[in-house]
Amino acid sequence: MKDFFNSLLNLVFPPKCEVCKKDTPEPLCTDCFSQIQFMKPSLGIYSAGSYEGVLRSAIHRFKFAGRKSLATPLGILLVKYLSHTSTLCIEEIDSVIPVPLHRKREQKRGFNQANLLAEVISKYFGLPTEHALERTRDTKPHFNLPRKERFSNIKGAFMVSSRPAVQDKRLLLVDDIYTTGATIFECSKTLKLAGAKRVEILTLSRTPMI
Ligand SMILES: [Zn+2]
Repeated sequence: MKDFFNSLLNLVFPPKCEVCKKDTPEPLCTDCFSQIQFMKPSLGIYSAGSYEGVLRSAIHRFKFAGRKSLATPLGILLVKYLSHTSTLCIEEIDSVIPVPLHRKREQKRGFNQANLLAEVISKYFGLPTEHALERTRDTKPHFNLPRKERFSNIKGAFMVSSRPAVQDKRLLLVDDIYTTGATIFECSKTLKLAGAKRVEILTLSRTPMI
């Protein structure tokens, strides 16, 4: 019955690529997907692509327009990037940790984009996703804050909710956008203070100015 309604829905509203709006069953068409260029790591941070063009539009649709279906192609982009990057060895990772949102913000959005990306990576590589980090403070959005204030704004905003999931573990910390690194470095520091053996940082995109 569900299939019947879905096909009826597809007939009335044919599924389109979220970025170029071309009719396609995929949320991100192959033409758009192939336009995303992989980037080299910078300062030890692994980011799949630059936050511009197709990738920027796709992240916007995913996060701000609530298009959850984009989690799969964007997660696959991370899987491809990891398979392509020789310096980050996925065999040496014990678990995947998504950067958490504050509970209130996650409720408002309905999902945490980092969780969904982490789940695709976990599924593909057969690794557990551990929700071992918790955001204890709801911080101001970072968009308009100067660099220095971003770091003080986020300081002490996270805690480890499960120490056994972290202690002596080699972790892959996952987020969507890397700008100044304030959020992800604070998460990494919190995990290391709780005894993580190693923390590798992976983001979907990096803003082009850094
Ligand atoms: Zn497209």
